[in-house]
Amino acid sequence: MQKINEIEVLVKLISRLPGLGPKSAKRIILKLINKRDELLKPITNSLAQLYKNVSRCHSCGSLKSNSIGCNNCENNKNKFNKICVVENIADQWSIENSSIYQGYFHILGGTISSSEQRKEDLLINSLVERAKKDDIEEVIIATSATVEGQTTAYYIQDSLKETNVKVSKLAQVFGAQVIAYDPFVPEIEASENNVSLIDQEELFGLSDVISIHLPLTDQTRNLINANSFNLMKCSPIIINSSRGSIVNEGDLLDAYNEKIISGFALDVYGSEPVNEDFYKHISNSMNCILTPHTSGVTTESNVRVSQFIAEKTINFLTG
Ligand SMILES: [Zn+2]
Repeated sequence: MQKINEIEVLVKLISRLPGLGPKSAKRIILKLINKRDELLKPITNSLAQLYKNVSRCHSCGSLKSNSIGCNNCENNKNKFNKICVVENIADQWSIENSSIYQGYFHILGGTISSSEQRKEDLLINSLVERAKKDDIEEVIIATSATVEGQTTAYYIQDSLKETNVKVSKLAQVFGAQVIAYDPFVPEIEASENNVSLIDQEELFGLSDVISIHLPLTDQTRNLINANSFNLMKCSPIIINSSRGSIVNEGDLLDAYNEKIISGFALDVYGSEPVNEDFYKHISNSMNCILTPHTSGVTTESNVRVSQFIAEKTINFLTG
């Protein structure tokens, strides 16, 4: 087949876009060539306009048009006292679509440890400058829950110490007050993260959502049982992604049926594979989410597990 340089170059370029490989690139190019006037010409013109007129704002990282400037930080009609920090523009759009948050955005353009991203390429200095402005009272860090996202969050938190703003994390964006029971976490560490440490009984009585993060030991087995549910006063949602035997499943179902709790999300179970008896009590109308022990599967853990297996295999094969 005759190779046409223009097509070869374009295949390589389109293959660099997310979710597209050389095969999809060739299909797209063929479609464009066949729809020369309906698609190829207007897309070419639009891309040229995009290149000329649309770019990221140097101050907040959001998208701006050269003709009207940045709607996020320059000519926003509303004046806010909060900045929500996200990793990329898609995160800004998701939070905007939820209509819960009213405030400015700051788009970092990645995370500190991501391989393609250097710390100095992220818009952290300009965030600190924006946070120093008189009208800003709070910066809400909404980076992802990955190791990289959290590393970035701690770095930002540290960078903002020179300002007077209050720093909050994602759950706090939506007005949630975070309380916790943990006998091993120092008070100072909790308060730095705007988390109040309280005792266990008080936590059961005050919480709307209870998320459990515990190892399974003799002390924690069956920890959340009928007695604990009876202390819950706000019809909370229970989330267990730690170890199954920490929550007594029979008592959990009783608490749900008696409307002591309003819902539950379980990723771990007393016995796995899950006991059929448990499923018999679950119906489609219930306010619950059940997942198959997958909450530990993250990008980082996948890499670690693969690396561990590869190293063990190499060690075995090379003696
Ligand atoms: Zn801006």
